[in-house]
Amino acid sequence: MKKRSTPRDLRCSFCNRNADEVERLITGPNVYICNECILMCNGILEEEMSRSTLSTVEHLPLPTEIKEALDEYVIGQEQAKKVLSVAVYNHYKRIQHGAAQTTQTTQTAQTAQAGLDDVELEKSNILLIGPTGTGKTLLAQTLAKMLHVPFCIADATVLTEAGYVGEDVESVLVRLLQAADYDVPKAESGIVYIDEVDKVARKSANPSITRDVSGEGVQQSLLKMLEGTIANVPPKGGRKHPEQNFVQINTRNILFICGGAFDDLDQIIERRTAEGTIGFGGVSKHSASRNTSELLARVEPDDLLQYGLIPEIIGRLPVIATLGELDADALMEILLRPKNALVKQYQRLLEMEDVKLTFTDESLQAVVNEAMDKKTGARSLRSILEEVMLDVMFNAPTQEDLSEVIVTGETVTEKSPPVYVQGKESKQSA
Ligand code: ADP
Repeated sequence: MKKRSTPRDLRCSFCNRNADEVERLITGPNVYICNECILMCNGILEEEMSRSTLSTVEHLPLPTEIKEALDEYVIGQEQAKKVLSVAVYNHYKRIQHGAAQTTQTTQTAQTAQAGLDDVELEKSNILLIGPTGTGKTLLAQTLAKMLHVPFCIADATVLTEAGYVGEDVESVLVRLLQAADYDVPKAESGIVYIDEVDKVARKSANPSITRDVSGEGVQQSLLKMLEGTIANVPPKGGRKHPEQNFVQINTRNILFICGGAFDDLDQIIERRTAEGTIGFGGVSKHSASRNTSELLARVEPDDLLQYGLIPEIIGRLPVIATLGELDADALMEILLRPKNALVKQYQRLLEMEDVKLTFTDESLQAVVNEAMDKKTGARSLRSILEEVMLDVMFNAPTQEDLSEVIVTGETVTEKSPPVYVQGKESKQSA
C-alpha cells in the first residue's frame, strides 16, 4: 500500500467519506482507507491480540504457587522471589482480564519523552538489582519455564555496540519469536530478560554537560520496547531490507525483566541514607558496617537516577527487587538442593554409566570455599566442578568395572585424582 496525494473525488472504501472530510486517505490498488478507519481497525486488531494472548498462560498460578516453584530452583533471595511472584501474577492477571487497556501503544513513542508523571503504567516491568551470580537470570528463566511462556535473554551492552538502535531492539524480539516457534501471540506474552542494564547507564548523572550518548541512546531504545510498541521484526533476523516481509510484534504485554549488578550503587544509597534522609518507613542506622545487600535493599528511584538511568526508564521499571550476596551456606545449598542441583546432575550423568558418584563433605566445602574466593556468586560453582569432574567424565565411560567414584577434599584442593572403586559384581564374572 502506498501513500499518495488524495484527489477530491476519492472516498474511503470503508466509511465512504470524501477525501475532504478526513485528514488522510491512503490509497491501495482500487481501494482507499481513511485515517479514522485505520485507527478503528487497529483497535479491533489489538483487542483480538490481547484476547489471543489469554490462552497462552492457561492456568495462572497464584503468587504463593509461583514462589513455591521458584523455591525449587532458586536458593535464598526470599524478598526478590516474593516481589517477583506478585509482579508476575499481576502482570498476567492484567492481561487475562483485559485490563491492559487499549491503544496507547502506537503513540507511545511520542509520549516517551514526557517524563514520569504522565506515564500511565500498563504493565509493571521489573528491575533486578544484585551482584553477579546471585540468581537474577535464573529467576527470570524459572518464571518463564513455570508459566510456559517463551523466554529470551538479551544483553544491553550488545545493543550499545551496534549503534543502530531500531535494529537492535528488534533483534531481541526476533529471539523471543524464535523461542515462541514463530507464534506471534505467544511471543507477545513472553518474558524477556535484559541483562547488564547497569552498563548502559550514563556515565555522569548530569545529563547536560557530559552526555554519554551511547548509553543514553540504548536506554531510549529500550524504553520504547519496555512501554509497548509495535515493532516490525524481520522473522529470520538479520538486517532489514525493503522487500522483506516483517512480522509485527506488539510488546505491550511482553514482560521485561531488567537486571544488573549496579556496582557502587550501594555507595550512592549509603551517602543518601547517611545524610539522615528519612522516607522508607524503617529507622536508618548510621553504622559503617552496613553491608552491600542491606544497602541495596533500600534503593529508591532517585538512587538509580544518580547512577545514570534516565528517568523514563526508571518510570518503566516500577517493580524493583534486590538480590543479596550468597554466603557459603547458600552456595552449599545451591550445590545440593535445587531440582537441577549441580551435584544431582553429575550423579545422574554417572548413574547412566552405572557408576555411583559420591562427594565427601570436605570436597563440597572445598568447592564452596573456592567459589567464595572467586566472588562471582554461584556462577563459578559450575566451572569449578567441571574442572574437578573432567577426568572422571573422561574415564568413567571406558572403565567397564567401575562402580563408584569418590571425590575427596584433595581432589578439589590439590587436583589429586578421585578414588575410583572398581568391582561391579555383574561384570566381574564376565
Ligand atoms: P546473575 O545474577 O548474574 O544473572 P545467574 O542467575 O546467571 O546470575 O546465576 C549463574 C548460575 O549460578 C546459575 O546458572 C545458577 O545455577 C546459579 N545460581 C545463582 N544464584 C542462584 C540461587 N540463588 N539459587 C540457585 N542457583 C543459583
